[in-house]
Parts: sequence; structure tokens; C-alpha cells
Amino acid sequence: MTELKRKLSDWSVWYCNYLTSYNWRTRRRAYLDSVGRCCDGCQDNWADVVHHRSYQTLGHEPDSDLEALCHDCHARRHGVPLPRAANDNNPLQLKFRYAGEG
Ligand SMILES: [Zn+2]
Ligand SMILES: [Zn+2]
Repeated sequence: MTELKRKLSDWSVWYCNYLTSYNWRTRRRAYLDSVGRCCDGCQDNWADVVHHRSYQTLGHEPDSDLEALCHDCHARRHGVPLPRAANDNNPLQLKFRYAGEG
């Protein structure tokens, strides 16, 4: 396993744990309530996922880094590379497998 793959897998484990943490669940619910639970993508469905536009601010996400989406719109967000170019020096910026949440 390369150093980069190891870093990325450590980070994925940490991120999965974060998504199930009390802090994130509280933050996520408050954000959904604040935007009225409507999907930011299609404006048509109920939002049931809070997507991270940036993974640089995990743990203290400002609202501007979050996006309330339905499952379809969320899957589309992850179907394209993350906004910043993937960079071998920063595993957080690499596209990672869509896990259904976050
Ligand atoms: Zn949608
Ligand atoms: Zn997402």
C-alpha cells in the first residue's frame, strides 16, 4: 500500500466515524432545519443528506461549506471530481468513493 493510499484510508475511517458522531448529527439536523429541508440542487425533493462542499473545515463547518441535498442530487455531486483539483500532496482533496452520506 502506498503512503498516499494509507493516508487516504486512515482519513476515510476517521470521516466515517465523524459522520456517526453526536457533534455531526446535531450539526446536520440544525442545518437541515435552518434551510427548511428542501433540496438545494433540484428545489423539488426533501433534502435528506447534508453534503460537504469542502473537507477542509470538517468538525467546524460554516454553513457556506454545507449543502442540503436529496439522494439523487447528492449522488450527482459525487459523480464529478471535487471542485479543487486532486493533489497528491493532499489526500483530503482526492475524490473518494461515494458512501451515501456527507
Ligand atoms: Zn435534489
Ligand atoms: Zn457529499
